[in-house]
Amino acid sequence: MNDVRPPFRQAVHLALQDHISRQHLERALSTLEGRVRHALTGEDAQELRARVQQVRTQTIHQLPDLYEQLQVTASQNGIQVCEVDTPAEAIACFLDILSHRDPVATINQGILEEVNAYDALQEEGYRLLDLHLGDYFLHLIEDEKAHPVVPLAHLSLMDMGTAWTETTGHAIRPTADAIIAALSGRVRANIRRARSAIIPAAFAIAETGTIVLLDNEGTLAPIIHRVDTLVIVMGIHRVVPTLADLPPLVEAMARGSHGTTTFATTILIHTPSQNVHLVLVDNERERLYREGYEAPLRCLECAACATVCPAFREVGGQVYGTPYMGPIGHILPPLLWPDRYAELAFGTPMCGIANAVCPVGLDFPALIARARAYVRQREGVPWRIRAFLNTWRHGVHHPLGRILTRLGTEALLSPPRVEGVPPSSPPPPPSTPALPSSASPLKRLASLWAPRGWGIEVEDNPVAARLTLISYLQEHHIRHVVGWAPEAVGMEGLPEALADVGIQWHNAVDNPTVEEPFVGLVKAEAVTTENGTVIIRSAADMPLAPMFHAETLIVMVERERIVPTWEDALSVLPTQATFVLLADRPHTFALDGMPHPTPFGPQRLHLVIIQSDAAG
Ligand code: SF4
Repeated sequence: MNDVRPPFRQAVHLALQDHISRQHLERALSTLEGRVRHALTGEDAQELRARVQQVRTQTIHQLPDLYEQLQVTASQNGIQVCEVDTPAEAIACFLDILSHRDPVATINQGILEEVNAYDALQEEGYRLLDLHLGDYFLHLIEDEKAHPVVPLAHLSLMDMGTAWTETTGHAIRPTADAIIAALSGRVRANIRRARSAIIPAAFAIAETGTIVLLDNEGTLAPIIHRVDTLVIVMGIHRVVPTLADLPPLVEAMARGSHGTTTFATTILIHTPSQNVHLVLVDNERERLYREGYEAPLRCLECAACATVCPAFREVGGQVYGTPYMGPIGHILPPLLWPDRYAELAFGTPMCGIANAVCPVGLDFPALIARARAYVRQREGVPWRIRAFLNTWRHGVHHPLGRILTRLGTEALLSPPRVEGVPPSSPPPPPSTPALPSSASPLKRLASLWAPRGWGIEVEDNPVAARLTLISYLQEHHIRHVVGWAPEAVGMEGLPEALADVGIQWHNAVDNPTVEEPFVGLVKAEAVTTENGTVIIRSAADMPLAPMFHAETLIVMVERERIVPTWEDALSVLPTQATFVLLADRPHTFALDGMPHPTPFGPQRLHLVIIQSDAAG
């Protein structure tokens, strides 16, 4: 949170004058809006939202107890827990943990933006390495995020190409592919250089002490398997009671963020193999809870409310000065930090359009009214806000007032709780041509995976699976396999069989460097037919780090390990080790609200299913 920015009102004035950026922002967010509305307003979404609301409401009611439980369980798992009250304490904690000598990989998002970690660590002399493409580009051109999911939404591809050429001296074509390739090259170098990392957690489970990381771009899994010291930072409100409560929350986040049902990668850290610190940040949340203003703490930070908010789309996220943008940005910051953000409570029409999509069921007009009353009662109304309210009242004489008044009036004239896609929204994306969940598990997996370029083979026994594997490698002219020990994947004698046909076997435990294209070979703990997630355990004798450099990952799984849902899978996983859940090819929405593939992690996944009665 930057201290030298203009006040909100002035920032809005400036943003409204930038007609070109507003056009780009509108285009990018209307693309995303269609996906998000589609994902959050169907019948299945209503059930999901009801479940999510129940979990979040219960969580926030029990926040102090759950928070205490988490500290105990995470510590028991070997995670070093540090609780801090203020951003200054958070920074002091980071400085204690991180070595000055080591470059630090980071994702400038959510709680890390809230405590201003990036700037504070840089001022202390640390070398920060961005892991997200959007963060890298914004730091390169010294700009700020337009939106949490689409940080570059205010820029055209031409703007990005020109800015890249001017700042790096290297010409680049103004296409999404070329820009992503250039950014990926820089981020890949960051991953190689990093010796420690500081990243935000999505959730942590009180019952088991598990830390949950969510990622679409594919950079988190390689980094957590690479660095010696991992600092994971989370607001105390992101605690989740049990592992069984997690799947609906992750699905709601995915639907609200980008209109999909999963993230490409979910990482569950139970008992880490390296030095992991969990920094839990209060920063006034406990006070909000004590004062009875806890409802907005239910927020998942999915950004759906910003995506659909017409007033937000007129100005973009740069005007807020906090990571909480759009409708939630007019509630949480004024309640949490009224000394700095009182003005935000008065800077939005109370139209309630976002009520239709918020997965945790926040009633925005009611909460904004509460935030205003809180700010008034706490501080009286300062002159700047009075001026702002006058602007609002005399809207027709003022550009900002004209826009906000028009938007607010239009919104009030329309029914606020829109169910379904409004006529002005673009059509939703074509739905995945997956077979229904009543179809046979294998057929459903095949239909889910075909659009992702993933394949499936079914074999009766390990010997047949070995032959399938060898013919796949020959067909694709692959000369190297990096894999777990043959007995760990149920394939004794595989290295010898590969050698017979001229294919070289490398044991992943030795962390081999293989320059030529190679495939990775692992075994899955479970595969779910609900959304096609592959769950892989990562441990010292079953390392995943080399697998993120493989073009193709071959995953062996026993037939009985194919289960319907995440809930089924999580209920049988041991609560030790670290699990990586792969559900899609890595991709980014950062450029224009559309998914674009990124090159981090395996691009193809091939599942070999061994029938359970023959598996050995
Ligand atoms: S308040 Fe906004 S960001 Fe938070 S959960 Fe609701 S829609 Fe998502």
